[in-house]
Amino acid sequence: MTGRFAPTPSGRMHIGNVYAMLGAWLSARARGERMLLRIEDVDKPRVIAGADRLMMDDLHWLGLDWDNAEPMFQSRRTERYEYALECLRSAGVVYPCFCSRADIRAASAPNEGDGFMVYPGTCRRLLRDHPDEVRERLAHGDRHSLRIAMPEAGEEADEETVARFDDCVYGPQRYDLPREVGDSVIRRADGLFGYQLVVVVDDLDMGVDDIVRGRDLLRSTALQMWIRRCLLAGGFEPECDDAPAHRQSPISPTYAHLPLIDNAAGRRLAKRERSLDLGALRARGVTPEQIIGYCAWLLRAKPTPEPCRADELLDGFSWAPLRADHPDRALDPVAPTTPDWLASAL
Ligand code: GLU
Repeated sequence: MTGRFAPTPSGRMHIGNVYAMLGAWLSARARGERMLLRIEDVDKPRVIAGADRLMMDDLHWLGLDWDNAEPMFQSRRTERYEYALECLRSAGVVYPCFCSRADIRAASAPNEGDGFMVYPGTCRRLLRDHPDEVRERLAHGDRHSLRIAMPEAGEEADEETVARFDDCVYGPQRYDLPREVGDSVIRRADGLFGYQLVVVVDDLDMGVDDIVRGRDLLRSTALQMWIRRCLLAGGFEPECDDAPAHRQSPISPTYAHLPLIDNAAGRRLAKRERSLDLGALRARGVTPEQIIGYCAWLLRAKPTPEPCRADELLDGFSWAPLRADHPDRALDPVAPTTPDWLASAL
């Protein structure tokens, strides 16, 4: 199997990012798997110059290693994404969407806090009922994104319209694709490829089949499973030369989604919280063992937050303790489990 780190270089890593990276590393390395690094810099407006190098330096400092000397950079892979788009077109699941964000927000049901808005299908109906109008608008150069169509909703959800997976932490998951996911953007109106498509293409090309990330991406997993299915149905051939068997018949990934980490005020940690980023912590003399020990405890990879090295956690690592105890975590300055170096940064 193959795992991956997939950081977005939008700032310095913070405790929450380290926790996710440690989870991914333990999952792969405890089983003796390959571990690859991918820099998720497809969303150019969010990228901070130099953040990728600092992330790599922080990962080395923490003792979290990976196998590909040169990481994969999404920003260099536009041709692969173009190819993937062609495969999806061959599968007959791509259509243009002229809606603005405001149009969609106005027509959508409230989302469930993971940032997902189920697209109401306006432009899918436009194409079905008025294909000439769509052709004219495209010919006229109207600004549009591209969406992937979910399977048609039947009276009741059936196997074709439902995505299921067994999450290592959250257990069996079931999403009704048309009702709970909806047609999603794969190329944005500004021409950039969407996160949801590029992640699937990259994971296929890297031979990744061990995916660890935050639970805010549970619903995205259902979508990504559908995208993957459509890509393969459209003839997509993974590029990974170092895993020939995977190239022939890609293995379905296993997934572990992690509880989220909130700050003392109950908001999800963000990279702009500078006091918890590795630049600030390292400058204050906090050691890698202190950070790893605390993150390992958040992952329930050990029973206490005492300092330790990452490689000391490999023996006997399992998701079972986290599965048994997976509410979101809050960093609390006064909790007895919060070490001094962290309490003073909160
Ligand atoms: N780059 C994403 C993040 O930083 C990870 C996405 C993924 O694991 O698929 O949250």
